[in-house]
Amino acid sequence: MTTPEIKLKNYLKSRGLRFTPERKIILEKIFSLHEHFDVEKLYEKLNKQISRATIYRTLSLLVKSGLVKELFRCQEKTSFEHVFGHKHHDHMLCLNCNRIIEFREEKIEKLQKEICKKYNFTPIEHRLTIKGYCKKCSQILKKKK
Ligand SMILES: [Zn+2]
Ligand SMILES: [Zn+2]
Ligand SMILES: [Zn+2]
Repeated sequence: MTTPEIKLKNYLKSRGLRFTPERKIILEKIFSLHEHFDVEKLYEKLNKQISRATIYRTLSLLVKSGLVKELFRCQEKTSFEHVFGHKHHDHMLCLNCNRIIEFREEKIEKLQKEICKKYNFTPIEHRLTIKGYCKKCSQILKKKK
């Protein structure tokens, strides 16, 4: 059975890079979180013990190794999530409270495959993020008007 650690070790080895203690700590933290995160959040979750620069560099390696996915950018922040053992899903992002709603809609998945076929395109992955306002925030914003 492969684990995120084995996968990352193999990736680093193939690049001639080392599996440093910092990289191990970051990896373990990410895979203990079952939520979306950005560099700042990870930095806090690591009790500010590892520098933001190291987190940035490690995250970029994790994205390249396919263990972590970059989701979307919002207000200069990039959100990530780990994908190991997670089924594909898409996201809705609330611009007011930053809440993220995950969804998977077979109709959308199927339609995208059909569109690719139409354009003779072989899809590898896609990212769909709908930005807007969640139910709670929509109600608050309506009242303000
Ligand atoms: Zn999708
Ligand atoms: Zn909201
Ligand atoms: Zn997600």
